[in-house]
Amino acid sequence: MSTETRSWTVGDTRITSVVEDETAHIPPEFFFPAGTAEGVAAHAWVLDGGDWADADGNITLRVQALVIEAGHRTVLVDPCVGNGKTLALPFWNDQDWPFMDRFAAAGFAPERIDTVVHTHLHADHVGWDTHRDGDDWVPTFTSARYLYTHGELDFSNAMAGDAVETESVRPVFAAGLADVIADDADLGDGLRLEPSPGHTPGHVSLWVESGGARALISGDFLHHPVQCAEPDWAEVGDADEALARETRHRMLRIAAESGALFVGTHFAGRPAGRVVADGAVWRFLPV
Ligand SMILES: [Zn+2]
Ligand SMILES: [Zn+2]
Repeated sequence: MSTETRSWTVGDTRITSVVEDETAHIPPEFFFPAGTAEGVAAHAWVLDGGDWADADGNITLRVQALVIEAGHRTVLVDPCVGNGKTLALPFWNDQDWPFMDRFAAAGFAPERIDTVVHTHLHADHVGWDTHRDGDDWVPTFTSARYLYTHGELDFSNAMAGDAVETESVRPVFAAGLADVIADDADLGDGLRLEPSPGHTPGHVSLWVESGGARALISGDFLHHPVQCAEPDWAEVGDADEALARETRHRMLRIAAESGALFVGTHFAGRPAGRVVADGAVWRFLPV
């Protein structure tokens, strides 16, 4: 498992990955009902280097947060699962990860974060927004505005048994730190949301632009590099499979045409690289 903190530069902007956890040897069908280990292994480039799949084609997935330093801004994207949360998946429920130690070691004090961006409100993208203080859940990033798109505040898409709304979202609204924004909002300093719905209704990806260079942070319109080659593989959590499939094709095409640095939110080991056309589909070239 790789939990190393890594950074990439985009013009004058820096993107840093702080890892919460990686899980290897997952049978692909656990996340992709149409997928099989043989189907993954059929794409030799996915197995190269061993970061994304083992030799049999069983996959590795990562949970990481991304910190963007743009001008005077320090923006946190998708702060992972968190500790002590009440969640349906046993490997996420009531965890005790050293994430905030890694976050501090990377040079980020919680009060330095001025903006928290959520690609969507699944449990693994909002966890560190709050932490337990006695019997209460309180915001972690007390100097930040936390941004939510309209389409994500209907919690009917949450996994049954996940206490995302009560433990991770409502305490932020109660503290007056929440802003509800459009799904194509310009956040300033070269940061702009791009609607990428389907996985969830209000799902967004994030463009980062500086000095003529660009990066695209995926969120969950794509979960694993193999979906570049298999864009029709739905993920088990996709709320609207047809729309999610259409979005994957559209966003992969845009990513390839843009030449942007692509950062896969759940990509393990080497999460940043380029999406390039490969016949009618795509492949991912890590940097
Ligand atoms: Zn998700
Ligand atoms: Zn996710």
